[in-house]
Amino acid sequence: MIKFKEIEFSYGDEKFIENFNLNLTPGKIYGLLGKNGSGKTTLMKLLLGIEKIISGKIYFQGKNQEENLNYFRKNIGYVFQNPEDQLVAEDVEDELAFNMENYGYSWEVIRERIIELMEKFSLDGQRKISELSGGEKQRVAIASALTLKPSLLILDEGTSMSDKKNRNKIIELCKKIKEQGKMVIIITHDLEELNFIDEIIYLKNGAIEFFGEKQEFIGKILRDEFQEPMELPSIFKMAKELYRKRNIDLSEIIFSSEKVCDEFWKFY
Ligand code: ADP
Repeated sequence: MIKFKEIEFSYGDEKFIENFNLNLTPGKIYGLLGKNGSGKTTLMKLLLGIEKIISGKIYFQGKNQEENLNYFRKNIGYVFQNPEDQLVAEDVEDELAFNMENYGYSWEVIRERIIELMEKFSLDGQRKISELSGGEKQRVAIASALTLKPSLLILDEGTSMSDKKNRNKIIELCKKIKEQGKMVIIITHDLEELNFIDEIIYLKNGAIEFFGEKQEFIGKILRDEFQEPMELPSIFKMAKELYRKRNIDLSEIIFSSEKVCDEFWKFY
């Protein structure tokens, strides 16, 4: 569904991305990981044509970006890291209507879709955007990205401002999108979020350091096979120590802190 083919890109004189290739298939939730500055946002900006590649090709659903940029933008919903960067209207209802109005949808269709999304994301259409909390703004941004029913949803740190309840709602939403045979890409720093992710794209200095199944990625972390140190949640640290000292691989149970702790206390 997405193909980056021999991409080259630079911000200034020095090449940041070179000979970059990546194929992503629908019906999956991908995690895009990497340290700050590794190129996660840049890669997504290239996909949406916000930044322009120097050479190479980008395909989405078989269409070449060069001739189909509008198709890309209409069918890819992007939620920026800071929702304020993308919210343009004064109140919630106008924000949700904005995209659909631009694409010439009838008022009845817009109305129906807005009601559906407000209900799904527990939003009040009359509220002023400026008065919303960070988490509420994030929910409006996600709802707004979904108005045109995109086949790909990109969430840049999409749950970072949400409380547990809303975070779970966003996770459920991602799973539903995947079940519909569509795709989700989540840019995240939080390894605990990998719980509901299928495959990992791990970037380092604008290149792919790892691309594959989540379980394999976690195994590599626990065996300390990545060169650059990663910031690990305490559960990962415990599991890594158990691997180092006792050669016990806990990657299968890493998302159950209870089970990891049980294993840990057997030895300490
Ligand atoms: P990430 O999303 O992984 O934190 P970015 O894609 O934002 O990384 O940035 C990748 C690299 O490109 C960083 O070195 C960053 O400083 C640089 N960069 C990002 N945006 C610009 C820009 N508009 N102009 C120049 N350099 C940039």
